[in-house]
Amino acid sequence: MALSIETAELILDGARAKASEMKVPMSFAVVDAGGYLIALVRMDGAGLLTPSIAHSKAYTAAVFRRARAEGYQITMHCDVDQENSVEHIRQGLEVIGVDRIDHGVNILESDELTAELRRRGLGLTVCPISNRWVTGELKAGQIKRMLDLGLRVTVNSDDPAYFAAYVTDNLIAAQQAAGLEPAELLQLERNAIEIAWLPAGVRDQLLAEIDRYEASAAS
Ligand SMILES: [Zn+2]
Repeated sequence: MALSIETAELILDGARAKASEMKVPMSFAVVDAGGYLIALVRMDGAGLLTPSIAHSKAYTAAVFRRARAEGYQITMHCDVDQENSVEHIRQGLEVIGVDRIDHGVNILESDELTAELRRRGLGLTVCPISNRWVTGELKAGQIKRMLDLGLRVTVNSDDPAYFAAYVTDNLIAAQQAAGLEPAELLQLERNAIEIAWLPAGVRDQLLAEIDRYEASAAS
């Protein structure tokens, strides 16, 4: 359904009234379902960049909603130790409604978000060697902590050509730094299979293979 300019103006009037009530001058953008701009307003006193920020936010929200409606799974890249990392994770969970969080190490700074992630059973794709590149640390202790908390944490390579390390290198680095036990390494792999966007039959086959490997390694 096309969004008329009359409707867009009603939305802007409501938003402007709310901003005036809060005494915070803001900019607002209204886009249609495809993300195309219908109307944009900058209130007196709002920052010069706020119109383009408002437009980008509206566009992004529309694109995510469209992806969801078309049946795509959604993830967000929440890189380690960035400005407002925890807030970005919160927005991913609460506003966008992601199916997975990429990186996401900083979720441990919020007990509330950690509990919510566990409740939803969503996965985290943590990349130790990429973490070291960005922060100087593998954050392997955080991976162990996530396992202890029952989160679906996984170990990944991020961009292997860029960081010169494939997934096995990342697993070895995390194992050595945090002293991960064999059972913990198996759990990381089970998590990876459980959170992968695979047909259920394929997922069950891969999990059964891990079970067989565990049984043969134990005997
Ligand atoms: Zn990344």
